[in-house]
Amino acid sequence: MIESWLECIRCNKKYDLEEVRYNCTCGGTLDMRRDLSAVDGRELKQLWEDRWGTKRGIYASGVWRYKELIFDCDESCIVTRQEGNTRLYEAGKAGEYAGLKNFLLKHEGENPTGSFKDRGMTCGVSAAKFYNADSVACASTGNTSASMSSYAAIAGMRSVIFIPEGKIAYGKLAQALAFGGKTLQIAGNFDDAMELVQEVCRELNIYLVNSINPFRIEGQKAIGFEVVQQLDWKVPDWFVIPGGNLGNNSALSKGMQELYELGIIDRIPRIAVIQAAGSAPLSRMWKEGSKFEPVKDPETIATAIKIGNPVSWEKSLRGIKWSNGIVEDVTEQEIMDAKAMVDAAGIGAEPASCCSVAGAKKLVEAGVIKPDETVVGILTGNILKDPDAVIGYHKDELGSMGIKGNYANAPLLIEASVEAVRKALS
Ligand SMILES: *Cc1c(COP(=O)(O)O)cnc(C)c1O
Ligand SMILES: [Zn+2]
Repeated sequence: MIESWLECIRCNKKYDLEEVRYNCTCGGTLDMRRDLSAVDGRELKQLWEDRWGTKRGIYASGVWRYKELIFDCDESCIVTRQEGNTRLYEAGKAGEYAGLKNFLLKHEGENPTGSFKDRGMTCGVSAAKFYNADSVACASTGNTSASMSSYAAIAGMRSVIFIPEGKIAYGKLAQALAFGGKTLQIAGNFDDAMELVQEVCRELNIYLVNSINPFRIEGQKAIGFEVVQQLDWKVPDWFVIPGGNLGNNSALSKGMQELYELGIIDRIPRIAVIQAAGSAPLSRMWKEGSKFEPVKDPETIATAIKIGNPVSWEKSLRGIKWSNGIVEDVTEQEIMDAKAMVDAAGIGAEPASCCSVAGAKKLVEAGVIKPDETVVGILTGNILKDPDAVIGYHKDELGSMGIKGNYANAPLLIEASVEAVRKALS
């Protein structure tokens, strides 16, 4: 087993893995670190190749395939739904729309509960088991709670969910309730829920599985590992990924950094983090060169990234520097038009996911991404998570949010006659 520990990203203080911790005494977030000096990158890559296509057991998971760089725990701790193993699609229409010749979409909405959160959650709930926890909790804009309640049910743990009042996408709420998560809707937004859940977990001795949890981040690294393996260990020029709480892009860059350190890849791809303009604290900081400042009342139809005070902004920024990356933001209209293209390409994804395509298009137009570069966009969640957004757009009923159905495919109401059908089809 590879020796590993937790380490503060601000002051580098180290903590033993046996101790349950989410933050350093200095307030910094923690990273899982491991001693890679004795690891042979070539052997590790071969081991992962040998596991590809495994039919049963933990190595059939697209996360635990990379166990050595995820969480090298005893197998008895692992709680898995064979997550990952998601497809990497040619972007088709969405590629033309973005102005890219080599645009691939990694569909994380194909995970067991319909979002990439499952990759982090298999690791987070396995850590809960490792620590002998009987309850897990999270604050969530929806997908984290859907995922957590599923994995907790499998592990036989109680799950407690804190969601913001008002709009949470219906598909996600439905999953949380169905999987038996104790769902507490609180007065306030996601950022308020996040603050409360941290306090509750401390006071009531519940294990916290938000992306502040370092194990979550480790699991999510597997998105990048799997893309690179699908590309036969060649890296794309760019990854384009939505940013909300900023855990996922932190994971992606950390994973790439580790593969590079092991000589498994020969360069680190550039990472573009895309935020929704109404919830874009990192983008604002990046563009203005200012200090980090939370956004007070975040707004966006892309509810999965409607977050004003992201917990992982420092990790995110570190990764963007490692990867010579960039931060951009896109408007509501840009998100929904890009989504219409992803959907019309036959692929489909929830609104937040489509920041990847909207952002790629904007960066191509700005000359930052070259049209012939190889770009992988991460589609973070499934199209069925938020049917209201889809129907609203296609019926052109999102005017109150300032969104027009530019590429709407509205249903037609017709008489039941061949003549009426002929007319409708002409
Ligand atoms: C959680 C989530 C995001 C944002 O990921 P972060 O790690 O919070 O930046 C984006 N899209 C979807 C669908 C999500 O569920
Ligand atoms: Zn510290």
